[in-house]
Amino acid sequence: MKIDTLETWGIDPTRPLVISGPCSAESEEQMLETARGLKAIGVQIFRAGIWKPRTRPGMFEGIGSQGLKWLKTVKKETGMLTATEVANKEHVYEALKMGVDILWIGARTSANPFAVQEVADALQGADVPVIVKNPVNPDLELWIGAIERIAGAGITKLAAIHRGFSAFDKGKYRNEPRWQVVIELHRRMPELPIICDPSHIGGDSQYIFEISQKAMDLGLCGLIIEAHNNPAEAWSDAKQQITPAQVGEVLQKLVIRQTNSDNVEFKQSLDELRQKIDVLDNDVLNLLQQRMEVVKEIGKNKKENNIQILQSDRWAQIVEKAKKEAAVRGFSEEFVEQFFKAIHQESINIQNNILNA
Ligand code: PEP
Ligand code: MN
Repeated sequence: MKIDTLETWGIDPTRPLVISGPCSAESEEQMLETARGLKAIGVQIFRAGIWKPRTRPGMFEGIGSQGLKWLKTVKKETGMLTATEVANKEHVYEALKMGVDILWIGARTSANPFAVQEVADALQGADVPVIVKNPVNPDLELWIGAIERIAGAGITKLAAIHRGFSAFDKGKYRNEPRWQVVIELHRRMPELPIICDPSHIGGDSQYIFEISQKAMDLGLCGLIIEAHNNPAEAWSDAKQQITPAQVGEVLQKLVIRQTNSDNVEFKQSLDELRQKIDVLDNDVLNLLQQRMEVVKEIGKNKKENNIQILQSDRWAQIVEKAKKEAAVRGFSEEFVEQFFKAIHQESINIQNNILNA
């Protein structure tokens, strides 16, 4: 897949790349006032939702095509590039006709290959940057599939936005970050710029800084932050929007870490620590192998005595004990639980093979 660098987008490739602007376009004044504030703090790309795919009907569904004129005015007055969300072919045609510089595909659209393909077909022959948000569900293949569909239309200015994943049980954030999905996307597509959306992950203005910092610590290349001249009165996502001045504060406070260092001492000590980790990882694997040998013995015993594999009480005991150990050892409960679930699943698979051999 051919992926151009961010420099080709016509922006100054500073890190982090920042896209900011309101969740929704509401009026020309709201757009211009917000845009002026953002321009003043050095933001290069202005975002605004023109068509809003809302989860439930009856919410504000976007101002529609008239907002495209306001985007044009913002561009003319501030010189910023403009970006909006497209979800079907009409959106693509209208946005391109009105000179929107960058298009993005929303999370609800990325989850639907029919819709992504329709957008891709409408993009054939266009030379416009397209950013693909992660689908609402943590399905990396679906995310990559959406990127591939857009690339298949000949789009080479590509990027991804990490905006978190829906969950039934609401945690601290509106959407679960599941950073491991993003790390895996980066491993699979190292050339693809990945931008973090702390507004939609956090769902609340108070979390924007901490999520942005985490994204920078993980080496993501940019941020898309929802900003509004009067957040409290916003017609959508009011809780998570901040003023342009607050965007400036977040950016000021961010610690941007180097990808690498020339400091010889640092490199040496990092090498040594990594060697230690490699040895310990090998020890972990050896222990797991020993554990699985015991599991095989149990499997044979169960087979001889015609006993079922899953013993729920025993499994519950293991998880409870592990959680207590987690607290003592300073691990998160979530980690220990996931770790033991993975081990348990492998144990079940091994026993299954033995019982059905
Ligand atoms: C948005 O960026 O305003 C938006 C609707 O985001 P998402 O598709 O991530 O929900
Ligand atoms: Mn929004």
